[in-house]
Amino acid sequence: MTTIKLHNTRTRTKEDFVPISADNVRMYVCGPTVYDRAHLGNARPVVVFDVLYRLLRHVYGADHVTYVRNFTDVDDKINATALARQKAGAEGTLEQLVQERSDETIGWYLHDMGALGALEPNEMPRATEYIPQMIAMIEGLIEKGHAYAAEGHVLFAVDSWKERYGALSGRSVDDMIAGARVEVAPYKKNPMDFVLWKPSSDELPGWDSPWGRGRPGWHIECSAMSYELLGESFDIHGGGNDLMFPHHENEIAQSCCAHPEGEFARVWLHNEMLQVEGKKMSKSLGNFFTVHDLLDQGVPGEVIRFVFLQTHYRKPMDWTEKKAREAEATLRKWRALTAGIEPAASAAPSVITALSDDLNTAGALTELHRLASDGDAAGLLASARVLGLLEPEMGDWADTGSADLSGHAARLADARAEAMQSKDFSEVDRLKSAYVAAGLEVRMSKDGVELVPGAGFDAAKLEGV
Ligand SMILES: [Zn+2]
Repeated sequence: MTTIKLHNTRTRTKEDFVPISADNVRMYVCGPTVYDRAHLGNARPVVVFDVLYRLLRHVYGADHVTYVRNFTDVDDKINATALARQKAGAEGTLEQLVQERSDETIGWYLHDMGALGALEPNEMPRATEYIPQMIAMIEGLIEKGHAYAAEGHVLFAVDSWKERYGALSGRSVDDMIAGARVEVAPYKKNPMDFVLWKPSSDELPGWDSPWGRGRPGWHIECSAMSYELLGESFDIHGGGNDLMFPHHENEIAQSCCAHPEGEFARVWLHNEMLQVEGKKMSKSLGNFFTVHDLLDQGVPGEVIRFVFLQTHYRKPMDWTEKKAREAEATLRKWRALTAGIEPAASAAPSVITALSDDLNTAGALTELHRLASDGDAAGLLASARVLGLLEPEMGDWADTGSADLSGHAARLADARAEAMQSKDFSEVDRLKSAYVAAGLEVRMSKDGVELVPGAGFDAAKLEGV
């Protein structure tokens, strides 16, 4: 069996991955807070862990992997939207409006991530469906002396776990207090203590608990859901490296203290962040966009996925328009090469070897290029699919359909020949701009005219030219 090597944040080394049980390899990934459309950076962990999920299924069998990714649907921004809608006259209780907003956002999320070729995880728990389990876990933490109730809140007592708190991110409690922007509150015994439960006002959704009507803190959600669905010890926990502290540190503290008989997660994987054209994506820089925005502009989901896979997950990834154009050209070539071909019985071993080396997706793509240049279409197809590329249901964008591109190219060539005689280039200019508007790249040389479908090519726009 193929040995997968993964870089474990916890040990800071690349290790051979040995699952607790090869019959059921278990992975938990922190999912989105569902208050709005996913931006491009939100999509990176989805694609990274989708590749890992596909690789695990390839090595251990599709029925022997359990992938859980949650939805955080307890959040002040969701509440704010629901409250605004209620004030604007929307019908229903606040709880119903909160649920409506979450349902809407989850629908968008699954659609957009599906467009990137991400398989749906086996389980997609919503935090609001696990409140009793969170309350039970918090009660257990209080009983064991790891948490305390104060003024309607319940807090995790970091001092009860001081030796191990901070081990994942490599910080000590004292360092954290010195350098952190911790929320100072009079009811905290230690400023680093974090919220497990907090009170809800009448304007906020809340659940009855031994500490009054309230709602859970964010960190306890993942601890409770991963325990419920994967048990006290499981194989892989993933997420963006922006979650390492405090979220993952707090998950570890909660889970290990609530279930000291277990190990919680053995291997921790963190992906680096995404930039756009060399800059951090931000609303103030005007380079902030969602996955939906890109899809709307005609950038195919498969192209976005390809660009993501070109960068190793532990390196910052830079989204550029140039990369997207090149990815589109490559995928069009590969799709043309593999059209009507049956995939080989198995993926090329070199592709699996690259992926097994801590998800070297860039190396795997290099191997795909090699298969393409060798003309091994069947091998290319089978191997690309392990990476979630060249799937039949993702290929509509590359289909030029009934568009007669060579006919249009001939027409432009004729118009140019005529214009050389008449010195009137207006028809040439008209055709050129119509083709560019349809998303075609117009290449004119003395040898002839070539029309190449580019980003956002739309065959319908050629009608009536
Ligand atoms: Zn989490």
